[in-house]
Amino acid sequence: MNFFDAIIIGAGAAGLFCAAQAGQRGRRVLLIDHSERIAEKIRISGGGRCNFTNRDLDPRAPQKHFVGENPNFCRSALSRYTPQQFVALIERHGIAYHEKHKGQLFCDGPSQQIIDMLLAECAAGGVTRWQPCAVRGVTHTPDDGGRYRLETDRGPAEAPRLVIATGGLSIPQLGASDFGYRIARQFGLRVVDPRPALVPLTFAGDGWAPYASLAGLALPVQIETGAKKERMVFLEDLLFTHRGLSGPAVLQISSYWREGAPLRIDFAPGTDIAAALGEAKARSRKRIANELATLVPSRLADAWVGDDPALQRPVNEAADRSLAQLAERIARWQITPNGTEGYKKAEVTAGGVDTRALSSQTLESKQPGLHFIGETVDVTGWLGGYNFQWAWASANACAEAL
Ligand SMILES: Cc1cc2nc3c(=O)[nH]c(=O)nc-3n(C[C@H](O)[C@H](O)[C@H](O)COP(=O)(O)OP(=O)(O)OC[C@H]3O[C@@H](n4cnc5c(N)ncnc54)[C@H](O)[C@@H]3O)c2cc1C
Repeated sequence: MNFFDAIIIGAGAAGLFCAAQAGQRGRRVLLIDHSERIAEKIRISGGGRCNFTNRDLDPRAPQKHFVGENPNFCRSALSRYTPQQFVALIERHGIAYHEKHKGQLFCDGPSQQIIDMLLAECAAGGVTRWQPCAVRGVTHTPDDGGRYRLETDRGPAEAPRLVIATGGLSIPQLGASDFGYRIARQFGLRVVDPRPALVPLTFAGDGWAPYASLAGLALPVQIETGAKKERMVFLEDLLFTHRGLSGPAVLQISSYWREGAPLRIDFAPGTDIAAALGEAKARSRKRIANELATLVPSRLADAWVGDDPALQRPVNEAADRSLAQLAERIARWQITPNGTEGYKKAEVTAGGVDTRALSSQTLESKQPGLHFIGETVDVTGWLGGYNFQWAWASANACAEAL
């Protein structure tokens, strides 16, 4: 029998970091992953440059960049392991990085540098790694104060503490599985329904036809969904695709969007389109589409004017009502997605192990000795390095407890 102090299942961002930290604190750690290749999501993240954290994460209110049934849950872990601490680690390993946009920190070189760093940290902690190795079953016996026994491809292994770091359902072709949710249910813990997040949104076939020709157009927008306390707004770039909408604005709002709810999009944030068209009417004889193209990209202007006969004329001949309606459709375009591109395209999975079943200090569940960290938990970060920071911080909190 192989005995360890802790067994961690899932050698992604959270699992590797937790194993390294616990190992360096003197724990005998076994890290298991079923994939051939290590930490594939780190490798492909940030367009191959890994957006490993975000400097704008507010240590006084870290929860404001996270979604979940209880966004405050992540506060303890995030304030005990900050972006600055991860940056210090990166610097100790001589990894060059830069800030891109809104506090997002990326490697100058390939993401592989982060994987190599985590592997070096695991080696420094004497972590035993079994990979590829499938876990066939997990049982708990109350003997000796409680032990978890795993049946694996490489034989049985036992430890008093078991950490589940198997991530969510996004990108199944990279080894994503529902293992974490199955283990949670096996031990009677609730799982908040998982759903794709940070994902492009799609629109019903025929309804989208007039906009499909805009595929490839990117522009800054203000996008919002929800009402009153649920209202969420982002100012980011939007990208038209053949099937719907993508780009940072849409990925961000997708984490808050609920089926059947409309999106409201302002294609000219900060510009009063109604006033600008009114002013153009008083001085210009240009066609309406040409005037509009001075305010928004010309492809968008052409598509929004379309073949409406009331708008096929010089702006000085347009009816005030027609211009007002056009301005309204630019500033408050309302459209309801019929779905998302799903887990194949989602950067993360929202939902997961219910935080009410976990300690925010240690990530231990109500089932003694069983911890959940990283994306498996119902904590989902915004685009921009927040998800990795949650992986590092939850792993750190758990390792301290191991
Ligand atoms: C295309 C893409 C780009 C991204 N870019 C960024 C970015 O730039 N910045 C950012 O902050 N976040 C980014 N993310 C999100 C980020 O990758 C995840 O939030 C993060 O990897 C979650 O870490 P984790 O350790 O919880 O899970 P993962 O990193 O997904 O690791 C889970 C591990 O568990 C293993 N596993 C799964 N099932 C089993 C099983 N049954 N048995 C054994 N092992 C199993 C998997 O093989 C995997 O190695 C991106 C995601 C994608 C898909």
